[in-house]
Amino acid sequence: MTNACKILAITNQKGGVGKTTTTINLAAGMAQAGLRVLLVDLDPQGNATMGSGVDKRALTSSIYQVLLEIADPASSRQKATHGGFDVLGANRDLAGAEIELVNLSHREDRLKHALARLAPDYDYILIDCPPALNLLTVNALAAADAVIIPMQCEYYALEGLSDLVNTIRMVRNQLNPRLAIAGLLRTLFDPRNTLAQQVSAELQQHFGGKVYDTIIPRNVRLAEAPSHGMPALIYDPGSKGSQAYSAFAKEVIERANRANAEKKETSQ
Ligand code: ATP
Ligand code: MG
Repeated sequence: MTNACKILAITNQKGGVGKTTTTINLAAGMAQAGLRVLLVDLDPQGNATMGSGVDKRALTSSIYQVLLEIADPASSRQKATHGGFDVLGANRDLAGAEIELVNLSHREDRLKHALARLAPDYDYILIDCPPALNLLTVNALAAADAVIIPMQCEYYALEGLSDLVNTIRMVRNQLNPRLAIAGLLRTLFDPRNTLAQQVSAELQQHFGGKVYDTIIPRNVRLAEAPSHGMPALIYDPGSKGSQAYSAFAKEVIERANRANAEKKETSQ
């Protein structure tokens, strides 16, 4: 029996914390491990789309049309140019979805229904969220089994985290009782920065085992790769950043497998 598809939302309402970098490289790392992966770009900025080598301006059909149910999810996806995963792309059209969806029925679970149709084709679906706690992010949380929260270890990081945790709680109560926090990922990490070390320690105190062991360092190759339309894992596999994301992909897969095994054991 094959494992059911797991849907992970990569989310943090704070901008520039490494959500998109994490989504693209996690997708590539999982694909390298032989898993079937779909990356869903849920951000009107379309950065995950471009970073996967797909031109956001040339999309004939995107996640926007899928959410409005004017395009079929299966025919709206395409292959990433490099990296071995599929992409359901986004562009500026998606900025209008927020307003257009408000008066439509089932506005919070449109993504969930669309992804349910694609799930049989994948082991993992990764959703790159926009930097906001808006209706798009709520759609991601309603569709997901779990969230990965990339965080930069800086002064205001913990404050923003409590808003996110409250939103997750609200979605769990009203829309998606199975939603879990998969883990918190420390990104853009500079070990020479004392404040970063303090915040990192505080994170571990508050969230314990929910903090991933892997830490993503600040590494220029991770920042360069998107302009070449490819994951850093492909662009420069030997770089410190790529190695960290490879290790992270392994950690995410291992944790999911362990959770599955535990679930099986308790149900026996
Ligand atoms: P947004 O909230 O705008 O969607 P984001 O959370 O998706 O941002 P990214 O786009 O992944 O964040 O990263 C922000 C910027 O930092 C990008 O220019 C990216 O290339 C760069 N970056 C991300 N992670 C790293 C890293 N570990 N080292 C160096 N640069 C990084
Ligand atoms: Mg982003």
